[in-house]
Amino acid sequence: MTDTQGKKQATASKAKTARASKSEAEVPLGPTGRPYHGFPTPTPLDSHGPARIIAMCNQKGGVGKTTTTINLAASLAKYGRKVLVVDFDPQGALSAGLGIPNHDVTTIYDLLLDTKRDAHEAIVASTVEGLDVIPANIDLSAAEVHLVNEVARETILSRVLRQVSNEYDVILVDCQPSLGLLTVNALTAAHGVLIPMECEFFALRGVALLIETIEKVRDRLNPTLQLDGLLATMYDGRTLHSREVLERVVDAFGGDVLETVIGRTVKFPDASVAGEAIIQFAPEHAAAQAYLRLARELVSRGAVA
Ligand code: ADP
Ligand code: MG
Repeated sequence: MTDTQGKKQATASKAKTARASKSEAEVPLGPTGRPYHGFPTPTPLDSHGPARIIAMCNQKGGVGKTTTTINLAASLAKYGRKVLVVDFDPQGALSAGLGIPNHDVTTIYDLLLDTKRDAHEAIVASTVEGLDVIPANIDLSAAEVHLVNEVARETILSRVLRQVSNEYDVILVDCQPSLGLLTVNALTAAHGVLIPMECEFFALRGVALLIETIEKVRDRLNPTLQLDGLLATMYDGRTLHSREVLERVVDAFGGDVLETVIGRTVKFPDASVAGEAIIQFAPEHAAAQAYLRLARELVSRGAVA
């Protein structure tokens, strides 16, 4: 086989198949059973925007949505992208995890209630250069009730984000653990969805239901919505359980499973307590390297500019 053929086959295999092809035998296999690419450092951008909006979704709590939003955002900012993260969970964990005050400030809730209000009022700079935040707090829990009778109630977030999307390369929306009206708003505003999932046995069932919801939203509200990928989180390669679950996920979702896998480590809760992203808190740690790699993978896949 010629070199070019080998490369072509490698690319096709990366995009389409879940398992390693023989031509890539020299690339070591990663935890998903596929070759483990390094992904090139993204080229710097000379201008910014319009943003690609990505919803971080999974109706199960505690699967790594907020952790992924914070650390993917910080990693993309490190590669020179202008990033806005939107806290879309009344728990406000995203705001807290980035050390952003979320009381007595303008929040995403205020913007949803009055879409004529200038969205810039709610934007706060984080301690990571290039990373801005729209905070949320418990007020947001009233939003579903308040918005249910609005005209075009599913497109409210989309209208809010339209005001600022030209100023960013990517906007990440950290969804709450439910498939209610707020999540439907996020899916309607988004160009793509990322699904973080914990490597544990019951994860698969929940993801099937989420994918049904994504298909409904695509059908009725947002025809161009893409599945940007499933991200395995809290992976512990030392346990047979983690390895088996990941194998099943790859069998079920194939090339939609991102090559990057996030390992389980106490560094994440520690970084959250410090109000920092992992690349600030422990830049040399494998966990920080994993999120940087995720950022490179998403740029390589075209999910981010
Ligand atoms: P979600 O937003 O889906 O509810 P979080 O990102 O808040 O999930 O994560 C839930 C908890 O698990 C948090 O305490 C977080 O610090 C912790 N956590 C997240 N990712 C990891 C990981 N890879 N390893 C260990 N703990 C993690
Ligand atoms: Mg969360």
